Amino acid sequence: MNIILLGPPGAGKGTQAQRLVERHGMRQLSTGDMLRAAVKAATPVGLQAKAVMERGELVSDEIVSALIGEELDAMGSETGAIFDGYPRTEAQAHSLDAILGQRGRTLNHVIELAVDEDALVERITGRFTCANCGKGYHDKFERPQVDGTCDKCGSTEFKRRPDDNEETVRTRMAEYRAKTAPILPIYEARGIVARVDGMADMDQVTAAIEQVIAS
Ligand code: ADP
Ligand code: AMP
Repeated sequence: MNIILLGPPGAGKGTQAQRLVERHGMRQLSTGDMLRAAVKAATPVGLQAKAVMERGELVSDEIVSALIGEELDAMGSETGAIFDGYPRTEAQAHSLDAILGQRGRTLNHVIELAVDEDALVERITGRFTCANCGKGYHDKFERPQVDGTCDKCGSTEFKRRPDDNEETVRTRMAEYRAKTAPILPIYEARGIVARVDGMADMDQVTAAIEQVIAS
């Protein structure tokens, strides 16, 4: 099973991808996470991407498609892939077709998380993650059960992304509208798009995604 979670920043892609990983043993392939790891490790890719990410613009298609190919090669061919934050441009969508084809994989579903733009700034500015295991949280919508302690691994260290501020979020949304939303018709033409209400509560979104996957 290979699926794309498509939606603007803050739509809930990472949240739902983490749940699919836990339930189905699939692998989350987040180009955002890969790029942040590259920035942290100060690799050549990270050095190139850092300023672009801080502005909320898109990193080059060549860089992110290469990262996706490498990650797919590093995982077992039977493990399902959840593409989170990739593809984000038409060129990336075409690259993904080639990348999957070369590896004998096919795309089963493109799940569009439909959300009101007004809600996204609040979602993103309240977002934080466990610094140890990466579990996602929100100041208002998903607090740890015990304040200050990660539900999953017990760590007491959390972090926030430098690009999760209102100004950068506006740029990221504009990038989504201009470059990413236009790729949906490619997949609609193949009849593999399912639209899920991303404004519903997290468990309802998960249930809707489970239905799509089971179909
Ligand atoms: P994305 O990966 O699409 O950028 P996230 O999954 O990180 O988005 O979600 C952004 C923030 O919104 C997180 O803090 C998350 O806890 C919260 N969130 C995700 N889904 C929902 C939802 N259905 N309702 C309310 N808050 C949500
Ligand atoms: P994300 O974690 O998906 O919100 O991505 C964070 C940032 O990383 C984006 O604002 C972009 O700068 C960059 N990025 C992540 N994925 C891609 C992609 N597929 N194409 C281009 N840039 C990306």
